[in-house]
Amino acid sequence: MYSRFSRGRITVNRQATSTLVLLAVLKQRLHRRRKPQRYQYLAGLLQNESLSAGQLDRLRQRMFDDIVHFATNHCDFYQRRHAGIMLPTSGIDITVLPVLEKADVRRHRDAMRDRDLASDAYRLGHTGGSTGKPLSFYYNDDKTERMRAGMMRSYRWCGWEPGEKILNFWGARQDIETGLKRRYKEFIAAERTLAAWEFSERELAAWAGLIRSWRPVLLQGYASILDELARHVLRRRLKLPPIKGVYSTAEILHDGQRETIESAFGCHVFNQYGSREVPNIALECRYGGLHVFSDTVWLESQADGRLLLTSLTDRVMPFIRYANGDTGRLKDGDCPCGSPFPLMEMGLCRANDIIHTPDGRRFYPSWFIHLLDGQTSITQFQFEQTADDGISLRLVTTGPLRAEDARGLKKRLRDELDMRLEITRVAEIPRPASGKHRFVIGRSSG
Ligand SMILES: [Zn+2]
Repeated sequence: MYSRFSRGRITVNRQATSTLVLLAVLKQRLHRRRKPQRYQYLAGLLQNESLSAGQLDRLRQRMFDDIVHFATNHCDFYQRRHAGIMLPTSGIDITVLPVLEKADVRRHRDAMRDRDLASDAYRLGHTGGSTGKPLSFYYNDDKTERMRAGMMRSYRWCGWEPGEKILNFWGARQDIETGLKRRYKEFIAAERTLAAWEFSERELAAWAGLIRSWRPVLLQGYASILDELARHVLRRRLKLPPIKGVYSTAEILHDGQRETIESAFGCHVFNQYGSREVPNIALECRYGGLHVFSDTVWLESQADGRLLLTSLTDRVMPFIRYANGDTGRLKDGDCPCGSPFPLMEMGLCRANDIIHTPDGRRFYPSWFIHLLDGQTSITQFQFEQTADDGISLRLVTTGPLRAEDARGLKKRLRDELDMRLEITRVAEIPRPASGKHRFVIGRSSG
C-alpha cells in the first residue's frame, strides 16, 4: 500500500518536473527567437574567454583602432579633436588621444553622436552618475543588446544557464516597465524585476517569499538592498531554495555586507562594475579577482588613480578615454581562476550613505541620484540630511533650476519621505579631505 502510494506521488512529481523542463525549454526558444542578436553577441563573448591574454590584447587593439577611426570619420566632436593627431591605420597608441572629461560629454553630447544616424535610430538615456554629476547620453537597441549579452556572460561565472530564473532588485524607477508587456517579457526571459527603491519589513518578507515560491537561481541588485534582504533572511532563519550566485551592482559592496549576503543565500557574491554609459566594465570571480572585460572596454588607470574608459563597441556615441569619475588601478599578475581578463581594483569613491525618514524607513543614495535624472543643467549635487525631517540639496548648475522642477522635487520628498527639502544653488561643493565627493550624506555619519 505504501509503495503504491509513493509510486503515485513520484509519477505526479515526474510529470510536474517534465512539464517544468519543457516549459523552460520553450521559454528559452521564444527568448532566443525574440533576441537573436543578443545570443549571437553572447556566443562571441564566451569564445573570447578561451583566448590567451596576448590574444585578448591584440583583439582589444584591433577593436580600439576601429572605434577611433569610426569616431573620427562619423562624429564632429572627434573629427575636430583628432584633427592634429597622426592616426595610423592600426596600432594606435591610446595615450596620444586626449582624455574625455564629463564636462566634455555634457558640452558636446550632440557632436559626439554618429552624424549619419537617422533621428529615429537612437534615444537619449540618463545616468545619475556614481560621483554625483548627472549625465545624458545617446544609445540604441544594439548597445542594449550588447549590454545584455555582456550581463549574460557575467551570469555564467556563477554557473547560471540561459533560461534559468533571475530576480532583480532595482533601485531605479525609470528602468521598471509595467503592465502585460512587461509580464510577457519577464515570462520568456525568466527574469523578474522588483521595485526596490524604498522598502520596509513587509516588502522584505514578500521578497523572501517570492524567492521561496518562484525559485530564482540568481539574485541581482544594489549591495545595500541585498544586504537588507540577507539580514531579514538570517533574522527569520528562513530556508531558501538553492541559489547559484548573487550579483551586486551599482554601489560599493562592503566586506560586512558580503559576509551577510553569502551566509544568508549560501552562495558566492559576484561584485560587478559597470555604468549605464559604459556597461560591463569588470566582474569579480570566485577567487575575488576583479577582471576587466577587455573585449568590451579598454580600461586605463592613471597615476592619480582616475580611471579612463574606452568602450570598444559603442558606435552611437563613442566614449574614448572617458574619465567617469571613479578611481582604481590595474593590477599585474594572474588569477587562480585562469581567466585571461586583466585584474583591477576599485577605489572607494563610490561610497554612499543612507537617509533615515521620520517614520523609520531608510532610503538609499540610488533613490536620490535618480530623482535628478534628466536634469541636464545640474553639473553637481549633494543631498544632506540636516534634521529628522529635513534634507538640504546643494546644486551646482549651468543655469537656474526651473521653478516647476524645484516644486516637483519638494513634492516627491514630502509625499514619499514625509520630509522637507531645501534647495540651494552654490558655486561649488567642497570636497572632503579624502578627495572623494559624496552625493548623499546621512545624518549618522555627520
Ligand atoms: Zn579570477
